[in-house]
Parts: sequence; structure tokens; C-alpha cells
Amino acid sequence: MPTDNRRTFLKRCFGTSCGFSATLLLSPLSSRKALGRTIEGEKIGEKPFARIEKIHDGVYALISTPFTKGGKSGDLSTHSNGGLIIGKDKILAIDSYRTPAGASYMADACLQLTGRLPTHVVNTHFHFDHLGGTRAFIKGSNSPEIIMTQTTRKLAFENYSKILPHPEDPDLSISTLNKWGGYFSDASAIIANEDKPITLDLGGRKVTITPMQGHTDSDLVIKDEESATVFAGDLIWDGIFPNFMSSSPSLWSKSVQSILEKNTGLIVPGHGSIQKSGSKSNTSYLNLLAEIENHARVSQQKGLSSDQAAAEFNLSTSVGDYRYFRNGFHEVAMAAWYREITK
Ligand SMILES: [Zn+2]
Repeated sequence: MPTDNRRTFLKRCFGTSCGFSATLLLSPLSSRKALGRTIEGEKIGEKPFARIEKIHDGVYALISTPFTKGGKSGDLSTHSNGGLIIGKDKILAIDSYRTPAGASYMADACLQLTGRLPTHVVNTHFHFDHLGGTRAFIKGSNSPEIIMTQTTRKLAFENYSKILPHPEDPDLSISTLNKWGGYFSDASAIIANEDKPITLDLGGRKVTITPMQGHTDSDLVIKDEESATVFAGDLIWDGIFPNFMSSSPSLWSKSVQSILEKNTGLIVPGHGSIQKSGSKSNTSYLNLLAEIENHARVSQQKGLSSDQAAAEFNLSTSVGDYRYFRNGFHEVAMAAWYREITK
């Protein structure tokens, strides 16, 4: 990374939660199979909470499976998706999941595949289910560069700020949200210029890290240039209703359109199954975002409150089956749009 984008910080960690409830619901809509949402890579391992898929030589995705077959709360050790991009010299881990126990699954897989641990970890955004497990990649003498944007670091501190000393480890701090099982590992390489992409050379393999916005005030999209695989973080969701909690919805839609227009390879979403570029899953997700926006705008023009708009919102069956991390995500989505529309 360019030196002007790097600042070294004392390694500090603190724990907190992503704020997601464990109440999970199954949406009674049409079959996901109808939309072609299947395993796109080669499954090389599976746990109750996630599977690892090989997408291309040196490119792996961890796909979290947080729902039971009955649609209830399952094992949330990883909660979010992530990945590995393996170069001759360096290995990049994309996101670090919710807990160190969950991230250990990817760390162990990396060791088995390469004999090495990730040299770099990039956090796509500040939500805790994407950065709570970084400690699993810090083992023995392995101390990976932890990459995030300046904004993501700031948001992490703001949102997980009730920090207390850890009773046993002076290098760690904990918060009252530590019950979710994760810890925040601070950045060692900060992306200060959030206006342009940067390139990371892993040795015979280049990765482009592109700052975007919308799901949060700072989202990173990671692309392996050789395979054209894109790790989209939570800008893209597949079959799970997105969380608008920290969003700027119109920026989010623009970022999604840009990702889908520019890329031709597989897209690993932040939650849900891998999508093929140009697939029905892409269209379903775009339609979902458009339905949410349209409903918010029409409801606001009718003079409805955002809660009334949420109460009247029903996803059309044409977008397929969407599951929910918790009740109230329609309310969160409408509130986000109302904030923007009435600004
Ligand atoms: Zn998120």
C-alpha cells in the first residue's frame, strides 16, 4: 500500500456486537432455486455455520449459513461471508467474521491450503459481523496488516465505544457488547484517501480495493484481477433482506449498479450465496432495492409515516425468497429512505 495511506497504530482491541438479533425468520415466498441461487464454487469444506468454496486457483469464499432448515437462528460463529486471495508472497483475508471461533475456520483452512496464515486482513466496513474475529488470524509470529478505511475505523470506535480494560489481557479491551463473542482488532494500515482504488500486489496476483459508500459511510469492494472475482461486502446481499441500519440508500443503489455493470466474474456478497455476474440473482437484488425505494417514495408522497410505510410493505414474489436476520428490517429500510427523502 502507498505509504501515505499507511499509519501504524498500537494494536488495541475491544469487543462489542454487530447489534443483530438472533431472531431469524423465513420469508414464505417462492423458491430460491427458481432464481438460480446455487453453490457456484467447488465446496471444499463445511461446518454447521459456514462452507468454504474454491472459486478459482488461489481464490476461496467462506459462505456463512446462519439459518437452520426451519428458518430459525442457527450458528452465528461467522455470520457474514468472507474470503481468501492467495498470492506467492502474501495472502489477503477478506473480512474476519463475527467471532474468533468462526474466523478460525478460515484461518485453519488457509494453513491447510498454503502452509501459511493471511499476511493481510481487510475489513470491508465497520459492522461487527465483518471484523469481530480478526484475532484468529494473529497467531504465533503471524501478525497480519489489518486494513480498513479511516472512516470505518472511526465508525467502529464510535459504535463500539464503551471500552473497558480486559480483565486478563492488557493488549485487549472489552465492551458491554462483548457478549456477542467478538473483538475489534485495530487497523495497522489505514486507507486515508477514500476517493480512489488502491492496488495490492500479493506476488503474481493483483488485487484492487475500491472504496464505495451506501451500506455504510465507507464500504470496500475487493477484486481479484486474475479471476475477476469480486468480494462486495454488504453492498450486495443474496436471499437475505439487507440491513439499512447505517445506510445512505441512494448511494447504496449507485454502488450496486456500478459493481454489477463493471464486473464479469463471480460476486461474493456479504450475506447469502455467490452470484454470477448477469444472473437472475443480480436482477432479483436490483429489483428488491428498487421496490424498497419506490415504496418509500410513494408512501412519503401519500403522507404516510415511515412506520406506516413499513407496515404496508410487502415484497413482490418476483424477487424470490428473502430471509431476515431479525424482525423490523422493513422498518429500518423505510426509515433510511425517509431520512434521505426528507433531508
Ligand atoms: Zn454490514
